[in-house]
Amino acid sequence: MTSQWINKISAVITGCIIGIITSIAAADTTGAVREEKHHNVVLQILGSGGPENIQGRASTGYLLWVDGKSRVMIDAGEGASLRFGQANAKVNDLDALLLSHLHADHTASTLSIIKRSYFEWVDGDSSKLIVAGPEGRGSDAAPGSELFPDTKKFIDTLVNSEDAAFAYLGIDQHHPDDHYYYAQVTAKPVPAKLGQVSLVMETEDMSIYALGVEHAYVPALAYRIDIKKNGKTFSIAFSGDQNARQSDEAFMTANKDFVAFVCDVDILVMHLAAAEPDEADVDSTYWHAIPSTIGRVANEAGVQKLVLSHLMSWSDPKASMKIIREQGYTGKMKLAKDLKRYPVNERRKNREASCVYAGADQ
Ligand SMILES: [Zn+2]
Ligand SMILES: [Zn+2]
Repeated sequence: MTSQWINKISAVITGCIIGIITSIAAADTTGAVREEKHHNVVLQILGSGGPENIQGRASTGYLLWVDGKSRVMIDAGEGASLRFGQANAKVNDLDALLLSHLHADHTASTLSIIKRSYFEWVDGDSSKLIVAGPEGRGSDAAPGSELFPDTKKFIDTLVNSEDAAFAYLGIDQHHPDDHYYYAQVTAKPVPAKLGQVSLVMETEDMSIYALGVEHAYVPALAYRIDIKKNGKTFSIAFSGDQNARQSDEAFMTANKDFVAFVCDVDILVMHLAAAEPDEADVDSTYWHAIPSTIGRVANEAGVQKLVLSHLMSWSDPKASMKIIREQGYTGKMKLAKDLKRYPVNERRKNREASCVYAGADQ
C-alpha cells in the first residue's frame, strides 16, 4: 500500500471518529438543553465518593443549578473542583459554598474554587462568596471536637489573614489598580448544636437552612434549600455525614429533628457509608447512617427521590437498597455518579408521610 493510500485511509478513519464524537457531543448538549428547558432547578453531582477516591469518584461535592446558573455548591472534597470545571460551572454565579463539616473529603477543594475565580475576572471587582460551615457544637461539644476549627478560623487560616497559608488569595489582597481579583470570601459560621435549625441565608428566590447533626464528635450540619419560582417551591436537602439516628437511642429510631428538617423535600441526598452493624462494627455507626436508618428517614420524611452518595469501598448498594425498601420507602432511589444531573421537581405533600416541616417556608 502506498503512503498516499495510507494517508487517505487514516484521513477517512479520523473523519469518522470526529463525526462520531461530534454527534455524541451534540446529543449530549441537546439533552442538557432539553432538560434545562423543563427544569429550572437541577442538582448535579460533583463528587459521589468518600475520602478514598476509588471507582473514579471524586470526594463529596454537589451543585445546585437554577435557571442555568451554578448558584450553590455543597461541600468541596478532593476532585470536586475538577468536576466543577467539567460541569462548566462558575464561581461568579455562586451565592454560597455550604460546608457540611470540616473533614478533608468535604473541604479540600475550597482553595481551588477560590483560586479559579481569578480566571473569571473580567472587570471591576471580583464576586463575593459566602462560605458557610459549622461553628462549634456549644454545650454538645464532645472530646475530639476541639480538633475542628470553626468555619471562620478555617477560612482565616486558609486565605483571610496576614499569616494565612494562601494569603495571596485573601480579601486583603488587591489588584494593583485597587480591584479584587479573587472571589471575596466571607465565612459564615453556623451553630452545629444537635437539633438546632438556623437560617443560613436568604435571597429573593432562595432560603437556605442548616441543622446540627451527629457525625460522632465532629461539628456537622445538614442543609435544606427551598427555591421559590413562579409561585412554586422546589426543595432539596443534603444529609452531610451523620448517623441520622436518635442520639442515645438504639439503631431503630430515625433522628426526629432530621426527619422534620427534610420533610417533603423532592430530593434528599444521603450518604451510604456504613453497613448494617454486626457485632464487630458498632463504632462506625456513630459516624454514618446505616441503610435501615436511611430507609426510615426517607420513608418518614416522605421524600420523592433519594440519592445515595459518598460511596465507599465497603458500601454495598444492592444490599443497602433492599434494606432501604424493607423500611417501607417507596419513592425513587438513585445511586449518585459524578456529573450526573437530577431535576428538582416542585415540592408536594406526601400524604403517607406523617412528618411536619417546621421551617419558615410552608
Ligand atoms: Zn465524608
Ligand atoms: Zn466526615
